Amino acid sequence: MSLNLSDSSLLETRAFLGGEWTETGKTFPVVNPATGETIAEVADLSADDVRKAIDLAYEAQKAWRARTAKDRCAILLKWNDLMLEHQEDLGKILTAEMGKPLAEAKGEIAYGASYIQWFAEEGRRIYGDVIPGHQEDKRIVVLKQPVGVVGSITPWNFPNAMIARKVAPALAAGCTFVGRPAEKTPLSALAMAVLAERAGVPKGVLSIVTGSDSKGIGQELCGNPKVRKLTFTGSTEVGRILMKQCAHDIKKLSLELGGNAPFLVFDDADIDKAVEGAMIAKYRNSGQTCVCANRIYVQSSVAEEFAQKLAEAAKKLQVGDGMKDGTTIGPLVDEAALKKVEEHVSDAVSKGAKVLVGGERSELGHTFYQPTVMTGVKEGMKVLTDETFGPVAPIITFETEEEAIRLANNTEFGLAAYFFARDLSRVWRVAEEIESGMVGINTGLISAAEAPFGGIKASGLGREGSKYGIEDFLEIKYLCMSV
Ligand code: ADP
Repeated sequence: MSLNLSDSSLLETRAFLGGEWTETGKTFPVVNPATGETIAEVADLSADDVRKAIDLAYEAQKAWRARTAKDRCAILLKWNDLMLEHQEDLGKILTAEMGKPLAEAKGEIAYGASYIQWFAEEGRRIYGDVIPGHQEDKRIVVLKQPVGVVGSITPWNFPNAMIARKVAPALAAGCTFVGRPAEKTPLSALAMAVLAERAGVPKGVLSIVTGSDSKGIGQELCGNPKVRKLTFTGSTEVGRILMKQCAHDIKKLSLELGGNAPFLVFDDADIDKAVEGAMIAKYRNSGQTCVCANRIYVQSSVAEEFAQKLAEAAKKLQVGDGMKDGTTIGPLVDEAALKKVEEHVSDAVSKGAKVLVGGERSELGHTFYQPTVMTGVKEGMKVLTDETFGPVAPIITFETEEEAIRLANNTEFGLAAYFFARDLSRVWRVAEEIESGMVGINTGLISAAEAPFGGIKASGLGREGSKYGIEDFLEIKYLCMSV
């Protein structure tokens, strides 16, 4: 299949192992979910290959951390520029391997690059402290130093940005990085590595270890004592496994895990704005983001109006191949994702939910599913307890603010939450009571390089982006000096 790239060298299928483009004799296929076609065969690394990448990263870290922050900043800024320069090609590669509409894919490239730019700059502001001593002869100095080699495991839903959010603070802080992209989406990661090399990232500082053996590679990244930190985005289930595997070395951990985001619409909300927010929070990436609104709670007096308006807006979405002009909803990533969505909808319908729009596979076949709105959703239905990860909006009505907060917090997760209200006292009350790391108030889109992304409860540890995001890649060392 031809992707019509203006720079065909961005479509790299070899792994990037310690700065060398590497083939192993074994490959695994990457499939376009919109067509079922195999786009590429990518180098399939073993856990032993990953060990080599870790060794090289360990060696390379000594020189990398010794460089000035300004030097590292310049390389990262160059990388950011190259990503933006090649936004169209990177977007096409991303759409081909995971299905999101090209406009969204290009948006992701700009969004990913924004983290590289942000952390390039933050790296120059890693300040320590001088603390007044506790005795007359004592001086207390606090240094912040890079943690060392960072291992990274990322999912397929943001094949570029999930890596950018991790690699940028790592490199800016003076760490080196061994990243395993999801086996469904290795091409975007390899294209990033092509540009990192062009930007001047030295050999060994960055490895992209593509491989189909997620468990074996995961065990190496978690169990190798040269790796001092693991950063992971994915499911809570896998996060728990990795946390256990990292326990032996007491590795530093950042975990961005599952969500089950509530989206609350109160009776004083601007309903049109709430519908607009729900469209973004629900249907972006075909509902396949960990911050997607999974449960939509609407106060009963405005529920009918909201549901009708949301159904009208959902009908206007254009399902199709992400490469086609006008497509606003791409396919789901694979058959398993499609089956989960079907199961959630049929479970809800069998228990009394009503489908206002959608509710079935699209006539386009493959893994396309119709944007769906359901009302009459109640506790006990799977759509409320599991992350659907698809274009399905289940609407539940509530009567009081207390009830809404109780329902919203009735989950083990705590990543994102959204609510729409105009009464200032209510806005503060709800914002403070909601159990989540991020709250969108009168907006359905909250993520930005400047802001701390992350969850509480079973949604994870640590924050990505913002001034806090770089702290997770630093260790504090305290010097006690007697003068
Ligand atoms: P998702 O549902 O988003 O795919 P997963 O948690 O299943 O979330 O996967 C996230 C990433 O973790 C993927 O790259 C996947 O290949 C990888 N992965 C899955 N299982 C393991 C494991 N046991 N050890 C290490 N990595 C794993």
